[in-house]
Amino acid sequence: MGDLRITGLSVDVVQWPLKMKRRHGVGDIERSMPGVIVKIETDAGIAGFGEAAPWSVFTGTAEANAGAIHTYMRPLLLGADPRRVVALMRSIEKNLVGHTEGKAAVEMALLDIAGRHRGIPVAELLGGFYRTHVPLSASIANPDFDEDLDFARERVGEGVNIFKVKTGFAGHAEDLRRLERLRKELPDTVDLRVDYNQGLEPWDAIRLLRDVEAFRPTFIEQPVRREQRAAMAAITRALDTPIMADESVFSPAEAIDMVRLALADLVSIKIMKSGGIFRAREVAEIAEAAGIMGYGGTMFEGGLAIAAGLHLVAATPNIALGAEFYTSTWVMGVEILQDPIRIEKGETVVPTAAGLGVEVDEEAVRRISVAHYH
Ligand SMILES: [Mg+2]
Repeated sequence: MGDLRITGLSVDVVQWPLKMKRRHGVGDIERSMPGVIVKIETDAGIAGFGEAAPWSVFTGTAEANAGAIHTYMRPLLLGADPRRVVALMRSIEKNLVGHTEGKAAVEMALLDIAGRHRGIPVAELLGGFYRTHVPLSASIANPDFDEDLDFARERVGEGVNIFKVKTGFAGHAEDLRRLERLRKELPDTVDLRVDYNQGLEPWDAIRLLRDVEAFRPTFIEQPVRREQRAAMAAITRALDTPIMADESVFSPAEAIDMVRLALADLVSIKIMKSGGIFRAREVAEIAEAAGIMGYGGTMFEGGLAIAAGLHLVAATPNIALGAEFYTSTWVMGVEILQDPIRIEKGETVVPTAAGLGVEVDEEAVRRISVAHYH
């Protein structure tokens, strides 16, 4: 295999400017959002890049994840062979709890190096391309709903057919009004989905969700809080519409809880929740064995994290409900990839070049960097 060693690691906390305001059950996003970019260098001149996309109300903070990579993961990586991805990630998991986004970033950079070194894309390291294009789900989360209606109409014109409406932050009557207008103004063939981001209280969730079912959503995502598992299970039993778990399922162990407690019909799979592509794959496989279909979720991700998500979905049959791989294109105000992620006819295109298949514009990273550790 020849010798290959990690010789350097640098971490940037970045502040992404945002082009869009977003509202969700758990919190609002406006103007800017922190993130983390990691670069791992080797003695062969090959460098790999990774990205952490934390959100303080959901997964964790950028500052904590950058610190975890810089202080705790660095000594486990320097001098090691970056192609031993699974062994290195096990050692990181053993030495550091939490920080799933930082772990995802480091694993992403290692896989980028491993793929580049062999001259193959990450999806081929994962078993090959099951799909090369991923149906795109666009989220309706703008506090200005009229702006969102224009946005949705434009996207329909471009071939997007899946829309996920963020609910649970402005009251039930307003949610119903938004769903009614979307059903009225968008073509009848549109695949409409609803995501509460934990926005409902368990005591009246079933009653409220029965109203929402009238708009024929394909699924309803995470109606109640992450830890309210009994309520998730009760809602799943009571409704005809499939219920998707997002915040309730981070790890493979929580995926087993999901199956055992029957707390959802579907699951949103994100590398930022699971701590990387391999753990996300385990979630997808546990779900598949239980007949639970997966969806490709994202956080507020730039092009690197989106590229990693695309390779995961490309190689994982059970993540079959499409994915929301658009944030680097429509939400982030700065592009850090030399060639942006492509969206064509309502689908996101999986990059096919070696590694993650994307090249980072390091000058663009420097422009949004607010702290650099090396
Ligand atoms: Mg969600």
